[in-house]
Amino acid sequence: MDTTLVKENLNPFEIAQQQFDNAAEHLKLEAWLREVLRRPKRQLIVSIPTKMDDGSIRVFEGYRVQHNLARGPAKGGIRYHPSVTLDEVKALASWMTWKCATVNIPYGGGKGGVICDPKRMSQQELENMTRRYASEISIIIGPERDIPAPDVYTNPQTMAWIMDTYSMTVGSTQLGVVTGKPLQIGGSQGRGEATARGVQFVTREACREKKIALKGARVAVQGFGNAGSVAARLLSEDGASVIAVSDSSGGILNPKGLNITAVQAHKGSTGSLRGFRDADSISNERLLELECDVLVPAALENQITQANAGRVRARIVAEAANGPTTPGADEILHKNGVFTIPDILANAGGVTVSYFEWVQSLQAFFWEEAQVNHHLEKVMTRAFNEVLAISRKFNVHMRAAAYILAVGRVAEATRIRGIYP
Ligand code: NAD
Repeated sequence: MDTTLVKENLNPFEIAQQQFDNAAEHLKLEAWLREVLRRPKRQLIVSIPTKMDDGSIRVFEGYRVQHNLARGPAKGGIRYHPSVTLDEVKALASWMTWKCATVNIPYGGGKGGVICDPKRMSQQELENMTRRYASEISIIIGPERDIPAPDVYTNPQTMAWIMDTYSMTVGSTQLGVVTGKPLQIGGSQGRGEATARGVQFVTREACREKKIALKGARVAVQGFGNAGSVAARLLSEDGASVIAVSDSSGGILNPKGLNITAVQAHKGSTGSLRGFRDADSISNERLLELECDVLVPAALENQITQANAGRVRARIVAEAANGPTTPGADEILHKNGVFTIPDILANAGGVTVSYFEWVQSLQAFFWEEAQVNHHLEKVMTRAFNEVLAISRKFNVHMRAAAYILAVGRVAEATRIRGIYP
C-alpha cells in the first residue's frame, strides 16, 4: 500500500500513543502495563475568569495533565496559544514522561496549557489570567507533586506570577513549585539557555557519529524563540553557518550565513524577523526543505509530515520542538538516511536544568553557571550515547531507541512499585 495515499493522523496524543506502542512491542511489555502507561493518570480542565483592561470579564479554558508519576513528581511546561487542545496537552505530558526517563531524571510527565492569544493581551491581562489559572490548578501542583515551567509564549515572568500565587495560598514562599523562574527569586543560572545548550551538546555528538564537521556546517532553524534563537546562536558559536531562521511571521535566508547576534537584535527591536538586512525572505515550509547539514525544528508540532519529509535534505534533524515530526515522516527520513535526534532526547536540556533548579530551590543553595553547564553536558552526552547503543542493538532509528530506553525505565519503576491497593 502506498502510505502517502493514506491520510495521516495528526492528532498529537494519538501520535504519542503510537510511539509508545512501538516501544512496548519491542520490549514485549505486559498487557496491563501497556494499559497503564498509554494514558494520562490525571487530567484537570479549568475555567479561568479574567478581568480585561476594558473592565469586561473573559473566561479562558485551561488544562493541566499529569501523565505518569512512577519515577517522581510531574514536570512540564505551560503553553499559552490559541490552538491549545486537551489532546495536545495530553501528548506533551506523555512526551515529558518519556523525556525525563530518557535523560534519567527523577520526574514523571506533566503539561499545562491555556487557550488564549497572548500576543493580543496586555501584561496586566496576562497576569490576571495567569494568577487565576495558577489558583485553579493549585489543587494538583506543588513542589512534591507537579512542577510547571515555561513553554511556548510563557516565560520567567509567568513563572514568577505562578510561584507568588501558589505561595500566597499556602502562606510561605515556595521556590520549588515552578522552574524557569527569574534569577532574583530562585531561578537557576543557565536555565534560559538550557534547552538550546542541550540541543548543541547532542548535535555535536550526532555530527561526530555522522562524521560531519560542525565548524562550517550549514544549519537551518525553524522557530526563533527561547529554544530556536539560542540554539542558532550557540551553534554559530561552534563555528556552524546558520543559513536560515524563521518565526511565525516567516523566515530569512542567507546562504553565506546569518549574523545571529544581529538577527536577535533585529527581532528584539522590531518584534519580528521581517526586514532583516543581508537576507532574502523564505517561507517556513521552504526552510524545512533547504539543503543543509543540520535542521533544527524549534516551533510547533507536525511540521515534518508524510507530505514533505521526502523533500527534507538535511543530514541531521535535531528536534528542539516537541513533536515536530510525525511517525510517517520518521520512516521516510530514516529510509532517506536522515539522522533524527528525537525531541525527547534533543530538547531534554530544558527539563534537566529545571531539575537542577528545583534541587537548588529545595536546598536554597545555588550553583555557578559553569557547574550547571558541566552537569548538563554529562547528562545529555550520556543519554545520547545510551540511545545510540539501543538504536544499534535493536536496529531502529533514534526515536524508536529513545522510546525503548524511556518506556523500559518507566515500566520497570511501575512494576517495582506495583499497583495500589
Ligand atoms: P517561544 O514562545 O519562546 O518561541 C516560539 C517560536 O516559534 C517563536 O519564534 C514563534 O514566532 C515561532 N512560531 C510560532 N508558530 C510558528 C510557525 N507556525 N512557524 C514557525 N515558527 C513559529 O517557545 P519555545 O520555548 O522556544 O518553544 C518552542 C518549541 O520548543 C516548542 O515545541 C516547545 O514545546 C519546545 N521546548 C521548549 C523548551 C523550553 O525550555 N522553552 C523545552 C523543551 C521543548
